[in-house]
Amino acid sequence: MAVHAHPDDEASGTGGVLAKAAAEGIRTVLVTCTDGRCGDGPDGVKPGEPGHDPDKVVELRQQELERSCEVLGVDHLELLGYGDSGMMDWPTIDAPGSFWSTPVDEAAGRLAELMRRYQPDVVVTYDENGFYGHPDHIQAHRITMAAAAETGIPAKVYWTTVPKSGFEEFGRIMRELGADWDEPGEGEERSMPDIGVPDEQITTWVDTTAFGGQKYAALEAHASQQENIFFLRLGIERFTELMGTETFLRVQDRTGAPLPEQDLFDGLR
Ligand SMILES: [Zn+2]
Repeated sequence: MAVHAHPDDEASGTGGVLAKAAAEGIRTVLVTCTDGRCGDGPDGVKPGEPGHDPDKVVELRQQELERSCEVLGVDHLELLGYGDSGMMDWPTIDAPGSFWSTPVDEAAGRLAELMRRYQPDVVVTYDENGFYGHPDHIQAHRITMAAAAETGIPAKVYWTTVPKSGFEEFGRIMRELGADWDEPGEGEERSMPDIGVPDEQITTWVDTTAFGGQKYAALEAHASQQENIFFLRLGIERFTELMGTETFLRVQDRTGAPLPEQDLFDGLR
């Protein structure tokens, strides 16, 4: 079971492990917490700009999500349907029904119900900073940890992460592509966002290069979102090279599988 904040997070963060699990006959469940209404509209129109219709964005992103699940072989898609909160300084953050304004207990209770229904051995979500600080990712983390604690069902719990080394490589390729990627001016420090962990702290490295095509196609399904178009510009081969290993922090475990491990299901087979 992967618990994600927005339609498309499943593809970029866990597309490889979802496709791999499906190929191995492991039942997969994707829980998407929000409706993605703060995403880009058709033609890249941004939230708050004229012509951005949140309800239309929700509809479009749900279709994209369903397509992505097909591509990744996800068996069950569960939508919690909370409003996309947007960023901390956006008015949507405490709009009625926003994920961020929903009490953790309430949303965790609904997720706990899903855990009881599907009995996941492995649960994946974000770290406490939501990987890069998005409020909905932080909230997804909180409800997942609360639901796992309440039910005691998952044998293994993981947080998605990236190795610092990989992130540097990523920045290099983005600059090479001429992206508007934090290129420092003369005399300026290169400012890399503080995400990722030192390589030696990563517990779990999963080689998903065999599923690179599916991961790419899943992101392609979400092509209404600008950051995905950005990835797609890499082309399948480059993309797979860069995004072909998915890395995690194992934070709960009842299997005793030795670390570092190469698979989320080590100790469960
Ligand atoms: Zn997201």
